[in-house]
Amino acid sequence: MRLVRVVLATHIRRSFDYLLPEQLPTPAIGARVQVVFGKRNMTAIVIELPDETNIALEKLRPIEAILDEQPLLNSQLHQLLRWAASYYHYNLGDIYLQSLPKLLRQGQLAKHPTVKAWQLTDAGKHHYQQLKHTTKAPRQNQALALLIEHEGKVAHEIFLRAGITQSILSTLASNHYVQPTELSSSLTHYEPLAELAEQPLKLNREQAIAVAAINSKAGQFAPFLLDGITGSGKTEVYLQILEPILKAGQQALILVPEIGLTAQTIARFEKRFNLPMAILHSGLNDKARCAAWLKAKDAHAAIIIGTRSALFTPMLHPGIIIIDEEHDSSFKQQDTFRYHARDVALMRAKLEQIPIVMGSATPALETLNNALIGRYQHLELTERAGLASVASYALVDIRAQPLRAGLSPQVLKAMQDTLGQGQQVMLFLNRRGYAPALLCHECGQVVECERCERPYTLHHHPPHLACHHCGSQRAIAKQCQHCGSTHLVTTGIGTEQIESELQQLFPDVSIARIDRDSTRRKGALDQVLEEITQNQHQILIGTQMLAKGHHFPSVTMVAILDIDHALFSSDFRASERLAQLFIQVSGRAGRSGMAGKVYLQTHHPEHELLQDLINNGYGHFARFALAERKLTDLPPFSYQALLRFEATSLNHLNTLGQQLEQFAQQHQQSGCWIFPVNEAPVPKRAGKFRQQQLIQANARKNLHQLISILIDYLEQLPAAKRVRWSVDIDPIDM
Ligand code: ADP
Ligand code: ZN
Ligand code: ZN
Repeated sequence: MRLVRVVLATHIRRSFDYLLPEQLPTPAIGARVQVVFGKRNMTAIVIELPDETNIALEKLRPIEAILDEQPLLNSQLHQLLRWAASYYHYNLGDIYLQSLPKLLRQGQLAKHPTVKAWQLTDAGKHHYQQLKHTTKAPRQNQALALLIEHEGKVAHEIFLRAGITQSILSTLASNHYVQPTELSSSLTHYEPLAELAEQPLKLNREQAIAVAAINSKAGQFAPFLLDGITGSGKTEVYLQILEPILKAGQQALILVPEIGLTAQTIARFEKRFNLPMAILHSGLNDKARCAAWLKAKDAHAAIIIGTRSALFTPMLHPGIIIIDEEHDSSFKQQDTFRYHARDVALMRAKLEQIPIVMGSATPALETLNNALIGRYQHLELTERAGLASVASYALVDIRAQPLRAGLSPQVLKAMQDTLGQGQQVMLFLNRRGYAPALLCHECGQVVECERCERPYTLHHHPPHLACHHCGSQRAIAKQCQHCGSTHLVTTGIGTEQIESELQQLFPDVSIARIDRDSTRRKGALDQVLEEITQNQHQILIGTQMLAKGHHFPSVTMVAILDIDHALFSSDFRASERLAQLFIQVSGRAGRSGMAGKVYLQTHHPEHELLQDLINNGYGHFARFALAERKLTDLPPFSYQALLRFEATSLNHLNTLGQQLEQFAQQHQQSGCWIFPVNEAPVPKRAGKFRQQQLIQANARKNLHQLISILIDYLEQLPAAKRVRWSVDIDPIDM
């Protein structure tokens, strides 16, 4: 009797044992198998071949089929997923299956798609014999030689990379020297880099030091913080550290923030190396995602570039991991398996024994602290590379100022001057839509989403009300539900409103708005970014999206319109986020030669944080903020977890809350703090009431121990059955 231990995506925190029928071979650990679970057919992953089981033999079911001859995940990835399951207290089966592309999760065979290719004909062979000693048609000659070299079959893409165009191939085909065919791309292992497709830039001193430091740690685990101001040439450093890796035939994994992965980014790597890349982001369809994943796994791709979840992509020959804009909050998954891609990437680099580079102009305080205490090597780039000069700042006191579309006279005047000089202006407001609320002028009643008890945001393009908490939409109300008055007015300003006001103020100027609404259509973001680079728009209005890593060579003025709410937030991370946003947004100004100017509108120009940032920069601010966190025992000087609770009835939550209160009293121990259960910052969303409980400890070990006990407790607690609960380790939004 042979046994197979598997994990499944069941939300049940354990593995399951099955029998291996005699006619089936022994599956590899890490291979997928098909099993029946309950009444359903499911894809499972083999994690062990145990000798015994504590399930009664007659209850064991056989596995139905083995889907993979070779394991999909190597042993380092296994260890990584196991580590992640225990660190985040999440079900291993869900983590395993989530790490696979959807098609593989659904049981499809892990086969590379075939690619377009060309086959040499006998006529072609003959022609080549005659042609090869002549200087006639050198490109055709080259194409035929390439085919002979590769036993008569070559992928279309390989021709293109060798500079042989479609039209040359068409000519050859029309002469019947070649014919179209298909090639399983499993034959196209990527060829190590021979020479660069583009000359590298000459590094400045700090860049050269960074490149040398990172290169010296090839083949071993070594974490680096590349702490470089915007425009200091971090990307050039990435490009140059990749060179030896790609020459050695190894692969690089590059993680970028969700909206940072643009055609611009990809093009820079393409242009330098001209090697096959695997691109993984949320916009891919299932087939493309699966193909890219397999390309990475079997080393058909040299560079794997993607957003958060690309972290789990297997690589045959990993050489380095790079996390660009490592401070970005999109690296933290905010639902189900709440992992932080940067933190898991560190563990991956350790298991794979490779260097990891975390780059940012505004490192997360956690990361900066690790660099300051010597756990990461701290590489600093303090000057702008190339032509760009550092921007200057102005705080604009808007107290008692007349505002037009949220813009003060000083900012409007500066816009006129900048536009007059033919340069671009960027306005930043982190609120999309036309207005954040619609209210009754007679009685003050706000038009609210009933399911969230929060104001609807008014949108004009197209006209509707949208709840930004649950995503629900409705037609614009004409009447107050409370008093029946038809006098409804908006309050507050969103990006749409600024856009339409500015169209009136600057009728001859082209305006581009960049937010989640304007870029929803596939390819829309890349298109508008391209138009901006081509100088087709002079005023750019955007949310946070605009702050991320784009190059806008002609922007010389940036204005941040409204940051005051962040100065007085109850979230202890709000000031860090504001500082990062401010620096990132400022970094968009004056990137190519012309000096940039950044305006910050505020009602609190004397605020300590703003003064510190403007006068002393992010590094100073961050060290000061770290000192403050240390005094108040906040992360990274303590460790936190957040239990989140959601239920359709407040009673269910309150009953559970009382029991947790008792639990806390019994389990209070030194070095651990169990805080009372509280309302979540958004106490109701989509009809569900939401509460949360913070757990804090002075050591990771204590935190994990306590969380394990709590989970065991919740799993057997009847009151917890009517509540959806989840655990968030190292939460970043509370
Ligand atoms: P970051 O990623 O730090 O924001 P980039 O790598 O995008 O910075 O570099 C900013 C600009 O400076 C780019 O236009 C880049 O080509 C240029 N640059 C970077 N390094 C150098 C260098 N050593 N010499 C000249 N120009 C450089
Ligand atoms: Zn809602
Ligand atoms: Zn009313």
